[in-house]
Amino acid sequence: MSLFFKDIIGQRGVVEQLRRCVDENRLAHALLMTGPRGNGKLAIAIALANYLLCNNRGEDACGSCPACVKLAKFVHSDIHFVFPVKNRKGSGDKPVSDDYITEWRELLSKGAYFSYDDWLAKLDIENQQPMNMNVRAASYCTSFPCSRAKAVGRS
Ligand SMILES: [Zn+2]
Repeated sequence: MSLFFKDIIGQRGVVEQLRRCVDENRLAHALLMTGPRGNGKLAIAIALANYLLCNNRGEDACGSCPACVKLAKFVHSDIHFVFPVKNRKGSGDKPVSDDYITEWRELLSKGAYFSYDDWLAKLDIENQQPMNMNVRAASYCTSFPCSRAKAVGRS
């Protein structure tokens, strides 16, 4: 499932700022999308990755070059997802996000506007504390605040 800037609900200012940063070759080495729940932070991040890595971008990613095809399957080698995970039963090893990449891609393939609770339900750990939240990595990122998304096309 491809995700483009044109698919982002609201957030026009953020999208235009990100597009300009890429077009002017002044994008920070790491960005941390912040803001309230439900504002599309993940969707924006994926659309940005798609735009950044597209080999034939115009106003948006092309959707058909080799990079876009890989991104549509969430298998591009330059994209790494980090998300909360749970311990595997019977294993003493610390889990890492890649242990659950199949589940992550399954949920993501249905759309990038799922909630944290949807992810916990997918892992079947609604009532447990997820593991592997790497908050220290956030200190190496440039914060990029996103506003609350406004519903589009709804009354
Ligand atoms: Zn492309």
